[in-house]
Amino acid sequence: MNSRFPKKQLPVVLSRLRSGSSLFGLKFLFLVVACTALILMMSPSLESVERQESLDTADMPVASGGYSIFHETMVDMNWPDVEKAAEQGAIILLPTAVIEEHGPHMSCGIDTYGAYLVCKLTRRELESRGIKTLIAPPFYWGINGTTHVFPGTFTVRKETMKALLHDILSSLKSWGFNDVFNLNFHGDGQHCITILESIVDARETLGLNAYCVLSEMEIMRYGLSGNEPFIVSHMSPPSYEQPQEFLDIHAGADETGIVAAFFPDQVDTDLARTLEPTRITYQQIAQWLTDARSVTPQGYLGDPAGFDAEAAREYLEADCKMIADSIEKQMMGK
Ligand SMILES: [Zn+2]
Repeated sequence: MNSRFPKKQLPVVLSRLRSGSSLFGLKFLFLVVACTALILMMSPSLESVERQESLDTADMPVASGGYSIFHETMVDMNWPDVEKAAEQGAIILLPTAVIEEHGPHMSCGIDTYGAYLVCKLTRRELESRGIKTLIAPPFYWGINGTTHVFPGTFTVRKETMKALLHDILSSLKSWGFNDVFNLNFHGDGQHCITILESIVDARETLGLNAYCVLSEMEIMRYGLSGNEPFIVSHMSPPSYEQPQEFLDIHAGADETGIVAAFFPDQVDTDLARTLEPTRITYQQIAQWLTDARSVTPQGYLGDPAGFDAEAAREYLEADCKMIADSIEKQMMGK
């Protein structure tokens, strides 16, 4: 489930589905968005056989295949360079997501690739403006409260995620990094709340300048004002599609378009074009959240066949420029 590409319907109406959870005195209206799904059929389909074969890499060079989520992150740096970056006042972008099924047409890593991609594009933009920026290792041990029943979708306990985030942020602080900006690409409610709580905790217990970078739509969804010290608010480009009657919030047209544009090996576009839209309305979302496998047996919620790779590319690149605008503004205002 993509939380950073919410052009169509998902926002405020959905946020009314959950209300009342409070965080540090704030009332949070909440939508639990997770992604769903079903990847495996009872008997192996042609697609699954092909996928299995694609994982048989015995004859391939070790260095071949797949995409690195470490490329251009601090993971690919040596320690003296990391130390030097901290001394130079580099800021950190922290990508957060999950490993979660994304329908029969995409792999389970989509949200993690997405979080990484947003950070990569944002970092390039910030560096071009003279802001030294490092990307932390992409975080993917998050919470999938809706789709965890499907093979390939991992979920962790809230306390596990919170402890891990604390330790990651603590490590960054101990090396001299002071400014950390979280960019999250997964909309499960508990997952998002855990990140917000962890960011606030890091500010209080570590003295870190930690922030969640959120779109105005996300800020509304969480019942925040955008003026909280732990929030950096960014504008979003105009939608390239008009609001529709049916939701497209998980492995639908939006995410399929992003993956087709940036990670084409992770999507079977021929299969995507054959998938029927789910035609799920706002009113049916509560049922999906509690019984995703019945409501969306194929594992996607939306219209994968309606994807537009070039539109998705343009949207995401413009979105990341706006994210960079907001981070630059935050750093300039210090
Ligand atoms: Zn997703």
